[in-house]
Amino acid sequence: MSEIKVTFRCDGCDAMLSFPSTDAGTVQDCPKCGGWVDVPEVTRREKAPPWKNLHDELNARYFEENVRQQVEIGRQIEVAWDQLKQAGERHEREASLLAREEEGLDRALRLLERFERLTDRFEALIAKWKRPA
Ligand SMILES: [Zn+2]
Repeated sequence: MSEIKVTFRCDGCDAMLSFPSTDAGTVQDCPKCGGWVDVPEVTRREKAPPWKNLHDELNARYFEENVRQQVEIGRQIEVAWDQLKQAGERHEREASLLAREEEGLDRALRLLERFERLTDRFEALIAKWKRPA
């Protein structure tokens, strides 16, 4: 196994130091100035290419936006449904409300279609996320 080095700068003398990764997380003496130095921990995250973090961040934002849109459309469906219900209650009394009821039904159906399209996109996104990189 090849030895992995941890490279960092000494806080005391500003020299670039290199220690074996087995020293990570320990306190060592700086070979240049003799002061104490904290050998930093090696994390996998630091090895990830920078574009990957950006990609994940953009995915997270897109994900959040999808959730937000679904919540909003869900709310609109509720409102449309309420209007439809109210129109239905008045239908017995006023035949002229029939047109409005149909309008409400149309709107509810259109919202429902939009909601289903969003859900499909959302599910595709989740599937993409679940797939191992
Ligand atoms: Zn030093």
